[in-house]
Amino acid sequence: MEEITSQKTHVLVLPSPAQGHINPIVQFSKTLASKEVKVTILTIDFVCKAMLLDCGPLINIESIPHETIPVEGVDNFLEWFQTLMLEKFSGIVEKFGDSEYPVKVVVIDSLITWIIDLAHELGLKVAAFHTQPVALSALYYHIDQEDSTNKIPFDGSVPVSLPSLPLLEKEDLPSFICETDAYPTVKKLVFGQNFNFKKADWLLFNTFDMLEEEVINWLRTQYSIKTIGPVVLSMYLDKEYDSSLTKPHYETCKKWLDSREIGSVIYVSFGSLASLDEKQMEELALGLIMSNSYFLWVVRGTEENKLPNEFMSKVSEKGLIVNWSPQLDVLAHKSVGCFFTHCGWNSTLEALSLGVPMVCMPQWADQPTNAKFITDIWQVGIRIKVGKDGVITREEIASSIKEVMVEKKGVMLKENAIKWKNLAKEAVDKGGSSDKNIKEFVQACNALN
Ligand code: UDP
Repeated sequence: MEEITSQKTHVLVLPSPAQGHINPIVQFSKTLASKEVKVTILTIDFVCKAMLLDCGPLINIESIPHETIPVEGVDNFLEWFQTLMLEKFSGIVEKFGDSEYPVKVVVIDSLITWIIDLAHELGLKVAAFHTQPVALSALYYHIDQEDSTNKIPFDGSVPVSLPSLPLLEKEDLPSFICETDAYPTVKKLVFGQNFNFKKADWLLFNTFDMLEEEVINWLRTQYSIKTIGPVVLSMYLDKEYDSSLTKPHYETCKKWLDSREIGSVIYVSFGSLASLDEKQMEELALGLIMSNSYFLWVVRGTEENKLPNEFMSKVSEKGLIVNWSPQLDVLAHKSVGCFFTHCGWNSTLEALSLGVPMVCMPQWADQPTNAKFITDIWQVGIRIKVGKDGVITREEIASSIKEVMVEKKGVMLKENAIKWKNLAKEAVDKGGSSDKNIKEFVQACNALN
């Protein structure tokens, strides 16, 4: 715990209402709270109830009550969330204005840039917290809406060559670029992160300097960005702030993993949103059996009915299925030898930080680009090959797993994974690049008092 040097600065933290956005910003909030910043997380009742919001004892939660939420489609939900927040935000900030700790700074998820103008009108400074890699922002930079000279073909018809980024084929580009009609609201928010870069007072990224060195150096020639990650690691290693009482299936997973040999288990998870169709679920299920390895597979409740009967009769011999796992504990467990992942940014950082090689099966959003970096740049995983009909076969699944778990390539991937684990730790350890950036941010916040 840092020494208290002055009255605490009150920072309001505004996450996007999605698990992959909540987790890192809450972890970052815990880090701020451990440095004597007063933190209040502003969210909605739905998030508190549905997303395992675990903030620990040092953080206050201000949750907005609401009636029914729109259930049809991500776009509708996000629009509803935006309207509600814009309506309530001023009142909440003003309420704190009368307290001992008026709010001085708001840390927003970088998808919530629609609140920046209002926050500034209320006299607050704004830090935009990015839950995606810097590489994505460097890519989106070239589709800046204000840049009328933008001539780069982004439809994936030819490989894209951009400063500081590897050559990107269509399969490596974020889905928002090629799927022109899908999710217009999500897309507007995703690109809006960059369009509003100049408005935010700080640009924080959940990554670390060594991991994205080239692209970070390049983006720093355009904007002042601060790397503060991987947030997962500092908090995971610092049990003092890990107050989770409701770790999902913790005992079940732990007991099952404890009884397996070192490095013998594949952990399979597609995060909180990605959904496979029935055919792909069948191929995955039977591919896992065919790999002949032990596996721990997170199948969310909404996906369970897609599991084939043939698989259900065999699963107990080799596998454990849970609806949600304590992912960090699982990845940190010595029995886990490989992460079969959709390559969400949090999952990617978590695997890197805990030294686990990956089999990449990206689905949408930034996941294809993350997979490109995992395989070609950091060399900690392999990418699974999609068949001509768009389906990944059970044979391909089984052989990819074998490549990482038993073949020579797996040894190289594991060595690299350990290298990145050590570098991640260096970044967040005292004096490391992310640690310094967080300290600077806290100092700047405190200077506002
Ligand atoms: N997660 C978890 N248990 C699970 C699956 C996922 O705790 O069974 C966590 C995971 O550790 C990560 C987040 O949920 O922090 C998922 O974020 P990510 O960016 O990987 O994927 P998204 O859900 O946004 O697609």
